[in-house]
Amino acid sequence: MTLTVYNTETRSKQEFVPVEDGKVGMYVCGPTVYDDCHVGHARTYVAFDTIRRYLEYKGYTVTYVENFTDVDDKIINRAAEKNIPPLVLSENYIQSYFEDMERINVRKATIHPKASETIPDMITVIQGLIEKGYAYMANGSVYFEVEKARDIFGKLRHQSLEDMRDGARIEVDMEKRSPKDFALWKKAKPGEISWESPWGEGRPGWHIECSTMSWKYIGRTLDFHGGGMDLIFPHHESEIMQAEAYTGQPFVNYWLHNGFLEIDKEKMSKSLGNFFTIKEVLGRYDPMTLRFFLVYTHYRSPIDFSDAAMDEATSSYGRLKKLHRMLNDVVGEIEDGVIPEFGAPDDDVLKLAFSIKKEFTDAMDDDFNTRIAVSTLFKLDSEVKELQRSGKIDQSNAYVLLSVMDELTGILGLEFIYEESSIGGELAEGLVQILIDLRKKARDNKEWATADLIRDRLKELGIILEDGEATTWKLT
Ligand code: AMP
Ligand code: ZN
Repeated sequence: MTLTVYNTETRSKQEFVPVEDGKVGMYVCGPTVYDDCHVGHARTYVAFDTIRRYLEYKGYTVTYVENFTDVDDKIINRAAEKNIPPLVLSENYIQSYFEDMERINVRKATIHPKASETIPDMITVIQGLIEKGYAYMANGSVYFEVEKARDIFGKLRHQSLEDMRDGARIEVDMEKRSPKDFALWKKAKPGEISWESPWGEGRPGWHIECSTMSWKYIGRTLDFHGGGMDLIFPHHESEIMQAEAYTGQPFVNYWLHNGFLEIDKEKMSKSLGNFFTIKEVLGRYDPMTLRFFLVYTHYRSPIDFSDAAMDEATSSYGRLKKLHRMLNDVVGEIEDGVIPEFGAPDDDVLKLAFSIKKEFTDAMDDDFNTRIAVSTLFKLDSEVKELQRSGKIDQSNAYVLLSVMDELTGILGLEFIYEESSIGGELAEGLVQILIDLRKKARDNKEWATADLIRDRLKELGIILEDGEATTWKLT
């Protein structure tokens, strides 16, 4: 099946045709590095990492560029509060970002350019825009004149310039010819980090960063440009205007925007204060469970984040882990690089493996529908249970099923890592005993729900309670 993708620009699903055969150039807006990332950020980067993995699975050579916005008001203000240079602050959070992403198996981009390292290129583009009559200087700053690009405006927002009221969602600034104009270059305030330019000391605006970095590392027309839905306007709309005004060529062929991760129907964000950092969440849940939770929703749909939803993900992912473990145990140890000789697998097992793979890839070809793709893995689990009941899960059949499972979960970036079950020393053993005592107390008080909850949660951690004269425990 051919790959179709939903393009925000055309508001429809379109067949994907790359600019250059066999290659994909993809740019994703990176984080503004002034703090640790929250799980809303994880949502976005897991979504695009999965898309990238699938494109590679289909055989494309993908150039994946994701920037760091390391020059920005929020960074400057936070650095001033902490009394450290802005670029030191941003570097710390870049490292924190990489740590978080590695844990949830988000691969590094082909290149992660930093805004602070691309300033000469941005100055060249801004100069070009002034020469072409799309930008003007005012008091040491440079603005893009939106009126001049009225033919380009509105591709993503789907509104004409007239439909946009002056001052709506944009600050009114006396320096600008129109409130709709946006800064390409901002004059430095005294004492603020700045770079030299033909217009004096200053720093670039946010939108020009991304256009410049994407051209520099991919080329004039990108196959994909992505980010969260909040970036559609003004960020991406402004990027299109700058880019197409400067090059006269289409900037992006397919715009991809993911839905938000929400809490109680509100976008998780630093400014609303309704956020949990990735580090916090990984203190409570396994990294692969978090990744599973994120890919078990189509990238354009919103995700509701809650303890209940994470607990549900723990149990659903647990089902896949159990399946993988069982197949792995049946197959046994295989030496790296050795092709095992198990004898021929059964026809119905081969058919099952083939049909699961087809359903999975059909779902991914339909605008990267990971929700349906994951559900085919649950189907595999049910079918394998059937085969198990009829005694068909021998080594060769298990090997076929395990291979297909690894191939497909790899596209989703899910990994199954086995560590020998162990429990860490006296402290952990003491804690299990406390929980057993509390459960006994709950049972004595006929608080059955609490008692069951303790037993079930321990079971999820691989600790099985056995009731006898006294309750004992063992590891699965
Ligand atoms: P920022 O650091 O705020 O510029 O955001 C970096 C990326 O994360 C952007 O693509 C945002 O759209 C995305 N993002 C921020 N918050 C959320 C959220 N709650 N859900 C999904 N994506 C988000
Ligand atoms: Zn951007």
